[in-house]
Amino acid sequence: MVNGTGVIAAENHRLTARNLPVAPQPRALFVNHSSVISGAELILLDTVIPWAGASAFLFEAGPLQPALADRGLHTIMARWGAGLSGVRRDSNLLAALPLAGRLLGVAAELASVARGFDVLYANSQKAFVLAAFAARWARVPLIWHLHDIIDDAHFGAAQRRLQIGLANNWTWRVIVPSQAAASAFVAAGGHADRVQIVVNGLDISPDPPSPSRAALGLPEGKLFGVFSRLAPWKGQHVALDALAQIPDASCVIVGSALFHEDAYEARLRAQAAQPGLAGRVHFLGQRSDVGALMQAVDVMVHPSVDPEPFGRTLVEAMRVGTPVIASDSGAAAEILDGGNSGTLVPPGDAAALAAALRRVLDRPDHGQCARAEARARAVYGVAAMQAALGDVIRQSVIFQSARPA
Ligand code: UDP
Repeated sequence: MVNGTGVIAAENHRLTARNLPVAPQPRALFVNHSSVISGAELILLDTVIPWAGASAFLFEAGPLQPALADRGLHTIMARWGAGLSGVRRDSNLLAALPLAGRLLGVAAELASVARGFDVLYANSQKAFVLAAFAARWARVPLIWHLHDIIDDAHFGAAQRRLQIGLANNWTWRVIVPSQAAASAFVAAGGHADRVQIVVNGLDISPDPPSPSRAALGLPEGKLFGVFSRLAPWKGQHVALDALAQIPDASCVIVGSALFHEDAYEARLRAQAAQPGLAGRVHFLGQRSDVGALMQAVDVMVHPSVDPEPFGRTLVEAMRVGTPVIASDSGAAAEILDGGNSGTLVPPGDAAALAAALRRVLDRPDHGQCARAEARARAVYGVAAMQAALGDVIRQSVIFQSARPA
């Protein structure tokens, strides 16, 4: 059940932390492997706002580093981290063997840095695995903010076993953004008493009115948008299949192949050039004005074919009053309140998506949009997320200091 702070507490905590007092600001070290800014890094950038003066440990240089520095964080770069993002998360452990020395080097370096801190906060999956060893060696509590659904669609069997073993034995808490992510963690063997749901929070201050479509370079007429990085599981191809069934509409594909899914981008562009779709699909690339673009389209489509752990774009569309159609898997039903705040369609079903699109493009349900906007503001604000995560961080330190040596 969601409480007033947007937090769903797992039942039966083995480690009873709920009644611990809240301590002053501990020295926290935030750890992330990638310096590319995707959804998980956007959450980190909001999480650290109340932590100016804290530190971040990154495996590689990139746009995340200056963005964290802008928020007052001191960033520490791993000496041996460059290129470790290249370890695919669905690969087996043998594939990581050539990099074993570097992985060990980063873990040792992180352990040495961690000795100067009260708590380690791992924000990404690769960061978590190395941070688990580092936290153990440095004897500091570890929090894992898990932004993924742990299942066989995204992680190899050995990876899952390693993650779950480390999470069950060496973390203070595993934070997830939805019931769907919590259930997947438990189904993969994670202990329910480790996991705590803190729903993602976004800036919910009102947006300035969006520029006109012409000013944004968008076509007139019926228009829907997909706003995700380009990756097969994000399902942009399903949206194009649906568009082929609605000859009087067009669509914008916003986002880029952030993690080297260039072959998928080529496939989408080829699909968009087919007779029947040519001229109706607009690839806008990676944009920093998603709020304005979302206000300008008639519908926001979220066509993921695998379960989403959260899906920030759902909330982003809800908060500007744009109708949402989303695949009914993962966290979408939670965010859209079981279909009360948007339309849910079966994942991968282009015909169902086309039917829903026709309905919403012809007769948008303004009452539903108003409910969605109110829900986005009430449940998914950034302040509630920051407060809840701050409590988890402070309590980990109090609990650790209360443990017998
Ligand atoms: N986004 C963006 N520019 C783009 C495409 C996406 O800023 O061109 C943002 C989008 O608005 C959202 C985030 O990237 O805030 C993606 O988060 P989400 O949870 O939807 O997906 P993830 O990438 O984490 O799987």
